[in-house]
Amino acid sequence: MAPHTVLLAAPRSFCAGVERAIDIVEHALRQRGRPVYVRKQIVHNAHVVADLESRGAVFVDELAEVPPGATVVFSAHGVSPAVRTEATRRELDVIDATCPLVTKVHNEARRFAARGDTVLLIGHAGHEEVDGTLGEAPERTILVEDVDQARTVAVPDPDRLSYLTQTTLAADETEEIVAVLRDRFPNLRGPASDDICYATTNRQHALSTVAAEVDLVLVVGSANSSNSVRLVELARRTGTPAHLIDDVGDIEPEWLDGVRTVGLTAGASAPPRLVDEVVAALGPVTVLEHRTATESIRFTLPAAVRPS
Ligand code: SF4
Repeated sequence: MAPHTVLLAAPRSFCAGVERAIDIVEHALRQRGRPVYVRKQIVHNAHVVADLESRGAVFVDELAEVPPGATVVFSAHGVSPAVRTEATRRELDVIDATCPLVTKVHNEARRFAARGDTVLLIGHAGHEEVDGTLGEAPERTILVEDVDQARTVAVPDPDRLSYLTQTTLAADETEEIVAVLRDRFPNLRGPASDDICYATTNRQHALSTVAAEVDLVLVVGSANSSNSVRLVELARRTGTPAHLIDDVGDIEPEWLDGVRTVGLTAGASAPPRLVDEVVAALGPVTVLEHRTATESIRFTLPAAVRPS
């Protein structure tokens, strides 16, 4: 039996930081011509990367792969100061697509370390954003990945301690980690406003209101997209089966057995058209949208590509 209803979580799909990062590569290609090198995936989505590649973007893992003097775009996830130094040394034409909300966390890391604090960075080891933030004050930053690590982390001075977070974590899990840290270190200081960004929070809140009402949740996003994976985990914590799909081709027919209502969302790096394609493939269905927030945030382009 096919599903008869799709309940769309809103907001979903692209956030302002992802739109800006893609815009930056598109402007660079138009203004400077191909190739434009991009360090790491510009955003964590296979479709976005493939599309930009087809238009002349060349994705590299390290700056050593970029010819001297060429244009290179830093991804939305940000880079460590060491990468900036290396780019200057190689005389690269750098365009920085770091999301302004990631830059905020970098600024906090520098400020907290400069006042003599040890910084507890809550996030996932190996994620590009975490690597970049850690690089701001590596000798003063300790990564805390989960509640267990929060319970055991050793710090040089419990009275000179701050925490920061990756922008794309699960809000509820992060609250739990911070609570454990505050319990152990009552003088722990934090950022003035949340580091988990508005887009992550909004997508999680929207899905939490949908997940409990449906038989199955599908999250459009790539496996290396932190905020997309967090959405799948959140849905599963409500007791609803949930799957991450890069696109409609990933849907296994047996997932739909006995399913009458499908909850559908997309991570902040997943293009909206992929959601439309999933709806079309499930059809004919009644499509309802459950909106919990309206987003109007837009970030300006960097001067390097801003049209005059
Ligand atoms: Fe910026 Fe948040 Fe989007 Fe990441 S998910 S690019 S931090 S707005």
